[in-house]
Amino acid sequence: MTFDPNCIFCLIVNGDAPAQKVHEDDDCLAFMDIMPQSDGHVLVIPKRHAAQIFDVTAEEAAKLIRVTHKVAAAVRTAMQPDGVMLAQLNGADAGQTVFHLHFHIVPRYAGKKLALHASEMADADTLKTHCEKIRAAL
Ligand code: 5GP
Ligand code: ZN
Repeated sequence: MTFDPNCIFCLIVNGDAPAQKVHEDDDCLAFMDIMPQSDGHVLVIPKRHAAQIFDVTAEEAAKLIRVTHKVAAAVRTAMQPDGVMLAQLNGADAGQTVFHLHFHIVPRYAGKKLALHASEMADADTLKTHCEKIRAAL
């Protein structure tokens, strides 16, 4: 399957749902997480619908990590966190809530706890500001 009309990330890829986009190329898209666990939380996805890491080829996985590596560096430059956490969840029992493969890039700030996973919507202007900062560092 390349597109799932019931998948929110497929709708974002198609432009049928909004997102603050950090990076886009032929195969991958990076955008701000709408319920960030910390300031600067970015998601990186393949454009082709695949639920889990096991549903893409090694080559597709390599493209995804290549973009994740590049965007994570920009997040680090732009947001100046004390650390950067990468996460990728496969299956509901692993905590996955959106079943379109994605890497999380989560900046970590000393002394600051993470917000609960997928729990609270961010202010749209704040997301836009963080998105622009990260794009400028790419
Ligand atoms: P998962 O639990 O599947 O690893 O992570 C899904 C992530 O997608 C969560 O961090 C959640 O905040 C984020 N998310 C869910 N719906 C949307 C949406 O419509 N737009 C954006 N930008 N992020 C979303
Ligand atoms: Zn999808």
